[in-house]
Amino acid sequence: MEMTPLDEWMAAKIGLAGKDAPNPASLQDYQLAMLGKTLALARKNSPFYQRRLRDVDPHALKSMADITGLPFTSPGDLAASSLEMLCVSQGEIARVVTLQTSGTTATPKRIYFTLDDLELTADFFAQGMKALVKPGQRVMVLMPGPNLGSVGERVATGLGRIGCEAVVHGLVEDPGQVIEKINDLGIDCLIGLPVQVLSLARWPRKIAPGQIKSVLLSGDYVPRSITEAINRAWNCPVFNHYGLTETGLGGGVECQALDGCHLREADLYFEIVDRQGRPVEDGCQGEIVLTTLTRRGMPLIRYRTGDVSRFLTERCACGSNLRRLDRVRGRSVYKLEGIELRLDEMDEAIFQLDDILDFEVSIQRQDNKYLMNIGFWAVPGGGFYYGLDLAIREKLSKIPGLNQARAQGILSLNNVFSSSNKLFSNPIKRKIKRESYAQEH
Ligand SMILES: [Zn+2]
Repeated sequence: MEMTPLDEWMAAKIGLAGKDAPNPASLQDYQLAMLGKTLALARKNSPFYQRRLRDVDPHALKSMADITGLPFTSPGDLAASSLEMLCVSQGEIARVVTLQTSGTTATPKRIYFTLDDLELTADFFAQGMKALVKPGQRVMVLMPGPNLGSVGERVATGLGRIGCEAVVHGLVEDPGQVIEKINDLGIDCLIGLPVQVLSLARWPRKIAPGQIKSVLLSGDYVPRSITEAINRAWNCPVFNHYGLTETGLGGGVECQALDGCHLREADLYFEIVDRQGRPVEDGCQGEIVLTTLTRRGMPLIRYRTGDVSRFLTERCACGSNLRRLDRVRGRSVYKLEGIELRLDEMDEAIFQLDDILDFEVSIQRQDNKYLMNIGFWAVPGGGFYYGLDLAIREKLSKIPGLNQARAQGILSLNNVFSSSNKLFSNPIKRKIKRESYAQEH
């Protein structure tokens, strides 16, 4: 097994000579220096940070642990003050990403990147993807593109630098047509969203056995049941990537040990905090907080991502010292009278069924009760539709939160039906749909 390529990348970024691997002390010195530069830039050029960091003494930061003395930044700040967070003139901005925050009336978040910021993303992608591809491979990128700065374009640029050929296809709409293209072009690696790549693995028309050498899945979270199904279908390693627009797309990527994402710590500093914003002990679950260390356009300082995960404490089997992030939990949670219904738990259960391509959960309030409906998309032809609804009900009966809500008489699983007219509900942000005025968090 090869060590994560991020080890060498980080050593070069830190300026370590020759074969020295980055160790916690050298990484911390580097991160502290970069944090100091980021704070100085933010206080000098951004009206938002001038106010927010007014009482902060940058000389008081003696170690990265002292970062807890800095105030948080929230998605609300990004929605309300993004232009004031800029540290460069708007003329230097090469890409703006607008993201809808939760709630239909909420102001969107805007995140700005300079060309240098975009370059850092391509560099991270190039290095991180060395874990899954070798020069000469042909990779299909099933992500939005190909505009400058889009994830598809940045991944393709990164792949080009390490000698791979990249085809940016965009999102999958017709799996059969994509499979034909994969076969025609001799594609041997796929990068895409979990449900979308799963549809290719389960489609009746097959890719030749042994053709796909590796897969990289990225998205807001990656269900284990999907990773395992793809691994079984193609008998190839399935790597996981963690990233958000706010991380500059790339955030962390698995090495060949396939056991948690090594983080992009030359560009980003990660913390895990509890609900009150206090740091948790290593290994404990909490919210991921990130600070950009090298971004110029719009630095983020202690940004609360809303994503939940934990640092893995055991050393990685690849031998690297670099920290790893466990699987990120799904964000779609529906609260019924204090009981959590989680889409990630339903994903783990339902995607175990070989005939399922995708499904959508909606909850409807009726008087004092909630009705759950599930529309599913089955594998055409091969799927045996009759009985799949029962199989889904059976899988769901093993989820404790759902059982609790049903036992208390608050929730009933109303309708489980096959929906054949549409394949993907929303492949990028899958979520439990609210059909009336029930409260979603
Ligand atoms: Zn590793």
